[in-house]
Amino acid sequence: DSADFDKEVASVCPFCGVGCQISLKVKDNKVKYVEGINGPANEGRLCVKGRFGFDYIHHDHRLTTPLIRRDDAPAKGLNVDPGSWDEVFREASWDEALDFAAKSLKGRGREVAGFGSAKCTNEEAYLFQKMIRQGFGHNNVDHCTRLCHASSVAALMENVGSGAVTATFNEIENADVAIVIGANPVENHPVAATYFKQFTKRGGKLIVMDPRGQGLRRFASHMLQFRPGTDVAMLNAIMHVIVEEGLYDEQYIKAYTENWEAEKAHLKDFPPEAMAAVCGIEAEVLRAVARTFAGAKAGMIFWGMGVSQHIHGTDNSLCLISLALMTGHVGRPGTGLHPLRGQNNVQGASDAGLIPMFLPDYQPVDDDGVRSAFTEVWGSDDFSAEKGLTVTEIMDAVHDGEIKAMYVLGENPAMSDPDVDDARAALAKLDHLVVQDIFLTETANYADVILPASAFAEKSGTVTNTNRQVQMGRPAVTPPGEAREDWWIEVELAKRLGLGWNYTSPAEVFAEMKRNMASLDNITWDRLAQENAVTYPSLSETDPGQAIVFSEGFPRPEGRAKFTPAAIVAPDDAPDDAYPMILTTGRQLEHWHTGSMTRRSKVLDGLEPEANCSLHPSTLRRLGVAPGEHVRLSSKRGSIEIMARADRAVAPDMVFLPFAYVEAAANILTNPAVDPYGKIPEFKFSAVRVEAA
Ligand code: SF4
Repeated sequence: DSADFDKEVASVCPFCGVGCQISLKVKDNKVKYVEGINGPANEGRLCVKGRFGFDYIHHDHRLTTPLIRRDDAPAKGLNVDPGSWDEVFREASWDEALDFAAKSLKGRGREVAGFGSAKCTNEEAYLFQKMIRQGFGHNNVDHCTRLCHASSVAALMENVGSGAVTATFNEIENADVAIVIGANPVENHPVAATYFKQFTKRGGKLIVMDPRGQGLRRFASHMLQFRPGTDVAMLNAIMHVIVEEGLYDEQYIKAYTENWEAEKAHLKDFPPEAMAAVCGIEAEVLRAVARTFAGAKAGMIFWGMGVSQHIHGTDNSLCLISLALMTGHVGRPGTGLHPLRGQNNVQGASDAGLIPMFLPDYQPVDDDGVRSAFTEVWGSDDFSAEKGLTVTEIMDAVHDGEIKAMYVLGENPAMSDPDVDDARAALAKLDHLVVQDIFLTETANYADVILPASAFAEKSGTVTNTNRQVQMGRPAVTPPGEAREDWWIEVELAKRLGLGWNYTSPAEVFAEMKRNMASLDNITWDRLAQENAVTYPSLSETDPGQAIVFSEGFPRPEGRAKFTPAAIVAPDDAPDDAYPMILTTGRQLEHWHTGSMTRRSKVLDGLEPEANCSLHPSTLRRLGVAPGEHVRLSSKRGSIEIMARADRAVAPDMVFLPFAYVEAAANILTNPAVDPYGKIPEFKFSAVRVEAA
């Protein structure tokens, strides 16, 4: 009953890229209850995280005052209990902490690197990249897109001309066939999954491709449980059939694409009868899928990190782009390419330039005209034209002594980086680490100064979801203690770095962003405050935005998208006698990323309280391990012990391991080898040994 609350505030769920709009019900400066409201992506729906995962914002682990590492603190390591940090850190005033942070970074140029966050708002992401570029003169700034969809974006930018989705996921209601590959929306994009299920109820054909069985399997017309790492073989075989049987859309290819002849010639080498032995899917099934997708009036392709997190992640995406182009399934209702974005603002943080090779709106840093357009608005000197280092390259550069200081805002590389023991060693080696966060995260364990920040429900700012919908987040409660909004902390730090910033609100930052971001044309702060969401591109002040783009060509030379043939690349960490099984990592429905928020949410932690991995029942029998008992997982990089569950969805030679649990951190095991284009690590394939613990 609304009488039970002091106020109700409309905002956006802080977890996944679906971007569900929510109403926060507040009493006595506490969020008591959350319900879904009628946002464009969710139409009132919420999943368990959006509905119950909010009480972390009032958790007593919240950082409430700036902290500075004590002079007599123990050596840096993963050794700080969030509940009793005072042996390691001492409280400081904002002035002291900000002065300390600025002094540790100022004048160090290329020795400084920054990790921003897809958990922050667009305005905070924009300010963060501006600070690194303007303040230190280079582009060593990145965020978790590098661990997520960087390879998809690399392929889309090169071949389609834009890294964002070509159609919203809600467009599936106009499709008659949809492919979901390397994504598990029932757990990772649960509200999007409800639209996918409804689509099948209306008779839509859902083709699911995943090395692991999953929740959409029950709704699928075809379930292709292919061998891990063989995406290119499988997809090229499907496209081979489309060419061989003349099922492609010749008119579309002629009008809107280039390099078709090369693609066609390349695909000759991938007959399904030969590829079946590689990918483990029968030739007849590959042929049936090819006919179903190519024969559809309108088809969509959705993909997730099962596609992107490989050393051949870019190649995987190239295949999906080619499949959509050759069948003409782009630019019409019910068609499109849609990489399901992970974090709630990974699309927006990328759009805002939180990446080492691009300024906002994916404008290349090595273009002199682009840089001068930004420095003119910023009133600052030119900065380096050289592409900056990526997330994993920055950690390597710390080990090499090139990067000596870091500013980490809202990211947790001590949990999220591959080969995380190596990443933790790099964090320990830094001269100075400034961490800005709401909790004393694993990364904050290594900090020299910690700046207490705001949760989503405590601040204003816009976020952009997987559908390109820019949405307004609003403050419902005040931050605890001395914690402050992230944009305010960034501005105060920049002032101390001598950058002369004088923003007084996120609205001012948004107005500045618009000056060099054409994607925000016709989208104003006031409009978002009134309408809650506008999709970009928006063609007029009254246009709610374009759900589908590229109906008349692509933002590439001559308006043509490009076919780029993709060859098979073997996974980097092949199983052998010592490490005979394949590890794949991912999320669970109840937990989010490194667990810092959801493991502090009572309901979510109650639902999934213990670190766990999943193995096929036959594997457990072979090991002599009963479900619920512990196993030891070891890779070339390290070893963990963890409770094992029996799950028939996992192939007998695989282990599925969620990455939210610090006590059994998945990334102790994962392989840091990266895709050469997207620079994304191969989280989805590491060789491991499994033993009874
Ligand atoms: Fe939040 Fe995603 Fe769940 Fe929606 S689907 S409530 S955005 S976690």
